[in-house]
Amino acid sequence: MRLEVQRSEKLNVLSELAASVAHEIRNPMTVARGFMQILSQSTVTEEKKLIYTSMVIEEIDRAQNIITDYLSFAKPQAEKLEELDVSSLSHKLINLINPYAAMRGVEVSIDMEPALVVKANSEKLIQCLVNLTKNGIEAMPSGGLLQVSGFRDKAKIILQIKDNGIGMTEEQVDRLGTPFYSTKNKGTGLGLMVSYRIIKTFGGLIDVTSEPDHGTCFTISLPAA
Ligand code: ADP
Ligand code: MG
Repeated sequence: MRLEVQRSEKLNVLSELAASVAHEIRNPMTVARGFMQILSQSTVTEEKKLIYTSMVIEEIDRAQNIITDYLSFAKPQAEKLEELDVSSLSHKLINLINPYAAMRGVEVSIDMEPALVVKANSEKLIQCLVNLTKNGIEAMPSGGLLQVSGFRDKAKIILQIKDNGIGMTEEQVDRLGTPFYSTKNKGTGLGLMVSYRIIKTFGGLIDVTSEPDHGTCFTISLPAA
């Protein structure tokens, strides 16, 4: 009975989320389409063409960012949880984020103990780790060090993502995970909400400590399998 309730609640949350994400992707598409229609008219000046083209690109980038934060690694039917050694994901994670980090002058270190077995779904966990590490990199506009570590603490598997970037005030930390809350120019405000929900479906939680101008540490804690 309880399981039934939980299951239908989860479905509701998911379809609600999918609906709002679809809406957020449709907006930039509509705007881009409008500009393309104007561009197809022969009366448009060269100067206006340049402006409209860059606006179209910006809107497409926005849609792309939403997809990256929300469902890059989603696979259909990937709901099933399986026993998974988190440390085996290190290589994949470093390959995914290194180009982005290098572009921004950020050094990444990943340090995981072996055999960190949890019940999870690897695509979703990767999505979460990419979202958190991406935020860490973006929090260091003039470069820095991003440290990812994983260890076992009694019956918990702990994963930490730590940056020495801009940090957050208490008020900002309180707002984390609210859908579409973003302080960034091209932010989606989806990355954390998605990550919080993913970790919740694995029976874990995410904690944040942060200090303005010093940096932020996200701590994921999952039950050891
Ligand atoms: P986005 O990255 O698109 O803005 P997120 O949901 O990933 O959306 O993050 C929401 C907000 O949380 C960010 O805009 C930023 O203000 C804050 N934030 C998240 N991670 C960090 C971090 N490591 N350092 C500082 N601020 C952060
Ligand atoms: Mg983000």
